[in-house]
Amino acid sequence: MKLYKSISTFLIFGFILSACSQNKEVTIKTHKLSENIYMLEGQGGNIGISIGEDGVLMIDSQFAKLTSKILEAIKNLSDKPIKFLANTHHHGDHTGGNENISKLDVNIIAHDNIYRRVKNNKRQTDESLPTITFNNKLSLYINGEQVIAMHFDNAHTDGDSMLYFTKSNVLHTGDIFFHNRYPYIDLNSGGSVTGYIEAVKGAMILIDENTKIIPGHGNLSNKKEYETFLKMLINLKSNVLAEIKNGKTEEEVTSNTSLTKTYDDLGYSWGFITSEKIRKTLYKSLKK
Ligand SMILES: [Zn+2]
Repeated sequence: MKLYKSISTFLIFGFILSACSQNKEVTIKTHKLSENIYMLEGQGGNIGISIGEDGVLMIDSQFAKLTSKILEAIKNLSDKPIKFLANTHHHGDHTGGNENISKLDVNIIAHDNIYRRVKNNKRQTDESLPTITFNNKLSLYINGEQVIAMHFDNAHTDGDSMLYFTKSNVLHTGDIFFHNRYPYIDLNSGGSVTGYIEAVKGAMILIDENTKIIPGHGNLSNKKEYETFLKMLINLKSNVLAEIKNGKTEEEVTSNTSLTKTYDDLGYSWGFITSEKIRKTLYKSLKK
């Protein structure tokens, strides 16, 4: 009886916890980066916004349940309609709102592989699909500037792009930057450690000390912090490569906390990508 009681208390408590987390209010925070560029923070990937005479360009759409709040936040910035939505990659926390936005007659721009991955995702409808796709690079001329979408091979996934606002000097990295945290590198969707590092190096060529960087996740950032992130990745890669060279197994590398200690101490480990998970990812990707 006592056991039954404690089990049921546990279940009720669990139920309350999950009910609370479902109702947790998400607010959309708006950050102004320049005269016409904004970053929206809610839940999921950070959103980039360009406003102006031509209309609104939106980068990523977070989750479907947040669309009405996101649209409200955009309305507060501009009374012009959304003209384009660009996706940095296919993950649901960046494309979940695609279907809702496409119903507003908005063209969705994305890399070819995003089309393929969204098409194969049973949880997403055809309305979530891009209407304009590109293979390597695409330029948009909107609100008085050239916006370049650049694809990077096998980085966070196999369909990543960064978007660079050439006049405003703002870069949206998508998930090729997790600010102050270990990155998620989705090996099952074509991501790779080496490709991820190469992509960050590629971005460095474009930007300067004054560039404002919208990371996929985390606070607004800059080149100096992006360089610190790059150094962390290069360091961890060489640590794990040395282990592989010494014939260490996946288990040995995954459990060897000394490989990531410097960055663990700085707080890079977080709920989704713990230090253990990043060691495992590094091993699996570099072993290939
Ligand atoms: Zn992602």
